[in-house]
Amino acid sequence: MSVRTRIAPSPTGEYHVGGLRTLLFDYALAKKNNGQLIIRIEDTDQGRLVPGAVERLLDVIEEYGISWDEGPRVGGPHAPYVQSERLDLYKKYAKELVEKGQAYYCFCTEERLNKLREEQRSKGMPTTKYDKHCFGLSKEEISQNLSQNKSYVIRLNVPKDRIIEVDDLVLGKLTFPSNDLDDQILLKSDGFPTYQLAVVVDDHLMEITHVIRGFEWLPSTPKHVLLYEAFGWKIPNHAHVPLLKEAGSTKKLSKRMGSVAAADFLKEGYLPEAVLNFLMFLGWNPGTEKEIYNLKEFVDDFSIDRIQKTDLVTFDRQKLLWYNGYYIRAYSAEDLTTKIIDYHKKYYPDALFINWTDPLYTQQVVRLLQERLKLLSEFQLLSSYFYSKPEIDKKLLIEFSGSVERSSEILNSFLTCYDGIEKSGWELPAIDNLSHELIKEKGFKPKEAFMTLRVALTGQTTTPPVFDIAALLGKDIVIDRIKDSLNEL
Ligand code: GLU
Repeated sequence: MSVRTRIAPSPTGEYHVGGLRTLLFDYALAKKNNGQLIIRIEDTDQGRLVPGAVERLLDVIEEYGISWDEGPRVGGPHAPYVQSERLDLYKKYAKELVEKGQAYYCFCTEERLNKLREEQRSKGMPTTKYDKHCFGLSKEEISQNLSQNKSYVIRLNVPKDRIIEVDDLVLGKLTFPSNDLDDQILLKSDGFPTYQLAVVVDDHLMEITHVIRGFEWLPSTPKHVLLYEAFGWKIPNHAHVPLLKEAGSTKKLSKRMGSVAAADFLKEGYLPEAVLNFLMFLGWNPGTEKEIYNLKEFVDDFSIDRIQKTDLVTFDRQKLLWYNGYYIRAYSAEDLTTKIIDYHKKYYPDALFINWTDPLYTQQVVRLLQERLKLLSEFQLLSSYFYSKPEIDKKLLIEFSGSVERSSEILNSFLTCYDGIEKSGWELPAIDNLSHELIKEKGFKPKEAFMTLRVALTGQTTTPPVFDIAALLGKDIVIDRIKDSLNEL
């Protein structure tokens, strides 16, 4: 049988970056074995649905460049892949379990259940549990209740005194006493299944061979094992993978520390391949020094054996930034320019300050800034002086020379020198040579002269090499900015 993995997201919010990490593992395992990756939408908790979440989820997975073999948008032999469109199936299977004596109708009212919980709490029970009251109902009582249209749920009849074994591919053999489990509701009174029933029915019907999911689902797994047994179905392999936490804490990812939703990282200015490369290492590593992975290489090297046996791994935001810088530098200036332009068009269409009609100019700017850029979104701020006149702070203009007089002298000297360069000869080597000759002749210290010129041209103190900037800005703009700075003094 071929390997079939799935992700089963619930559209109750934006797609979490942790979900994307798990998706990567599912993708790699399926592709490595020439298998299939399935997307199934688990929307049975109707109260928590967020409008538009399904479409946004699928969009973002596509934006990250990951494709799936079966599921929404692509269809497949087990359609529909949305649980709310499969309700009759769950009902049928819940009733099958009732007939087998593995599940039972429960007609208890909310009032009775609340009272029961209160009683159990007052007796100091650590967790409250259903008391199987309705398991004792006779066939006649059940049919009578049903014919009177009494509201009901169907519960799993959890056996007493059993030790349930879960054989996890990552965590190993685990045992759970059945006495700790509640008689799980399988079908709710609104006719919707709970997660527990739907996940088992669908993983079985969709012929999933490997269930890879976050550690938080481990407590549900013994219930799933009981369900598989009750149906007489083969239990798929399970692999519970670590959850993500902020560096230096045991808390889950927090919006206060940065993006959390997969889509928000792209909006923040991260490249999809950088995020994916970073995520591959959250709970997995190849056991070598290799850190740079594209999707194909990841598929080749992936194995479940190398998934970390732990509940939490650190989401190191600094490392993510490092990856992004790496991928930004790896692009040609031409391709990076396209990325930057597309990024701004998509996320900040109203804030386009750049003259996009001259992409060649932007390409030169990109070439100068590429080394410094860690996020696509930083380009706007870092490159502003290439596109518009900077604000000049007078204090900065004299910071490196020590006085107004000295800065004036420096800037006046550059003005005369540059004025003497023919427009046709306005090129980096000429500007560079003449500037160095000038400071020697005038006895200026390199730092005071070049920093003062840098501030005059850019308004900033950390920029690419100042003569590269001068060459790209062109003679007229350079002369104008020096004159403006002299006026500031
Ligand atoms: N619907 C669950 C979720 O939202 C799926 C858990 C699982 O993969 O079994 O994550």
